[in-house]
Amino acid sequence: MSPTKLKYVIRLVVIFAIYFATAKFGLSLQAVSRFATLVWIPTGFSIAVLLLFNYRCWPAIALGAFFVNLLNGAPILVAIGIGTGNTLEAVIGVFILRTFFGFINSMSRLKDVLALILAAAPLAAAVSATFGVTSLLFGGTITSSEYIKTWVPWWVGDVISVLIITPFLLLWSFGISFDRKYGRIAEFIFLFLVVTAVGLFIFSGTFRLPINNSSIIYLVYPPIIWAALRFGQREVAAILLVFSGLAIWDTMLGFGPFASKDINISLLYLQFFMIITSLTSLILAVVVSERRRLEGRKDDFISMASHELRTPVTSIKLYSQIVKTKLDEKKYVATKKYIRKLDDQLYKLTALVLDLLDISRMQSGEIQIEKAPFNLNHLVTEIVESLQRTTKNHTLSINGKITKDVIADRDRIYQVIVNLINNAIKYSPDGGKVIIHCKNTKDYVQISVEDRGLGIDKNHMQRIFEKLYRAPLVKKNAAVPGLGIGLYVSSEIIKIHNGKIWVENNKKRKGTTFYFTLPIVANN
Ligand code: ADP
Repeated sequence: MSPTKLKYVIRLVVIFAIYFATAKFGLSLQAVSRFATLVWIPTGFSIAVLLLFNYRCWPAIALGAFFVNLLNGAPILVAIGIGTGNTLEAVIGVFILRTFFGFINSMSRLKDVLALILAAAPLAAAVSATFGVTSLLFGGTITSSEYIKTWVPWWVGDVISVLIITPFLLLWSFGISFDRKYGRIAEFIFLFLVVTAVGLFIFSGTFRLPINNSSIIYLVYPPIIWAALRFGQREVAAILLVFSGLAIWDTMLGFGPFASKDINISLLYLQFFMIITSLTSLILAVVVSERRRLEGRKDDFISMASHELRTPVTSIKLYSQIVKTKLDEKKYVATKKYIRKLDDQLYKLTALVLDLLDISRMQSGEIQIEKAPFNLNHLVTEIVESLQRTTKNHTLSINGKITKDVIADRDRIYQVIVNLINNAIKYSPDGGKVIIHCKNTKDYVQISVEDRGLGIDKNHMQRIFEKLYRAPLVKKNAAVPGLGIGLYVSSEIIKIHNGKIWVENNKKRKGTTFYFTLPIVANN
């Protein structure tokens, strides 16, 4: 067996074992109608697994779900039905996230968190609950009057699992990194002591307080807000997990504000409360983190922008002095050379200033385009010829031809192509080929720029089109200057033209390919 296959098989076995064990644990907690449990870790776990690895891990989930239900007394067909529901739940959940929301595992945008809690969690859970409870009905385990009574806890148990387990696993899967300042570590430890104390105080019989008033439940919020403001999303996810664990445990033992005679009613209320708590906490945490990150990006941007502006200005100053000296010496031929250099620097400066202006225009939605028909081949050839003059290490070439005119803003499309080719040059410090592919179908034209450069870490691929976003470079020592605005501006331009822009790492060779399309029909 090849090492990759072996790794895959080991991964499946581990996933199966965890799925099976956590499912068994869930079913042991007095499940409604013996199968619908309000504490169902496997849902959140399986969605995280498919997001972190890929869809290929589904057999481990299917087998785990099938066997655990079979061993819990389900007839074979019912176990197959439930297993199918559980597997589809994870697959559909991940499909919704990836296809409709471009979800990224670091959950660093509000969009990701909202997609998980408002779309994937409720819909995926509904699939599993419907498959599972319908199987139980057909298998004769429940009667039709028990359908809703079984469906609701099934759904609630699965939803809360996605809200607590999936974020925890995703956020902590990026490795554990700590701010090494003693003050921060002390604060972190203190926070977790407070969390544990609050958790025990609210839910458990540890303190044997005579209070069984549901209002003490609100004590969970201060530590969560503390974690969101001072730390980040992963700490909030960890606190939610701790609270959830303590709450379930103690409610099962008959303690805390949700304890009542019927354990399933107690758990149902508790889980509703935890759904609201995790929903608000995750949103708060991502909004705070997003703001903090944006501020950091702005600081980087300001220092980079001043540096980027200073470089051409210094060169312009230098060349203009040289030109003056040469003119004084009446060396007109040499003057010409320096005037060309001056011109190059002015070109760079102008491009930078225009980009900066664009960013503020785009922010206020003021960007305007003037569409007219033109031939993209001429434009591409013109750009390639002029950019080839800026580099000796790279060979620029054009592959294919566009046979149809597009109706678009020529200057803006020029800006996009220049941006992409300049990036291809900039991010291939060792030089090499840059190929511009041109093709068209019935409905659209497609231009792509392929380089043999540094490539992009796949965790950052979807984000490089964001404003001021710069991906950390794959080769650590290769520092490439930039402001993180070119792709943002380009993608806005393409969006206004109803086109698409995206990037892929090259499959066989190193480097990346950036693509954009412009519709032909919509433009005419
Ligand atoms: P800048 O290049 O000024 O940083 P861009 O908006 O043009 O800004 O690009 C955003 C980020 O995308 C870059 O910081 C870089 O990480 C990545 N990137 C863009 N083009 C390429 C490329 N051809 N190869 C590798 N990374 C790229």
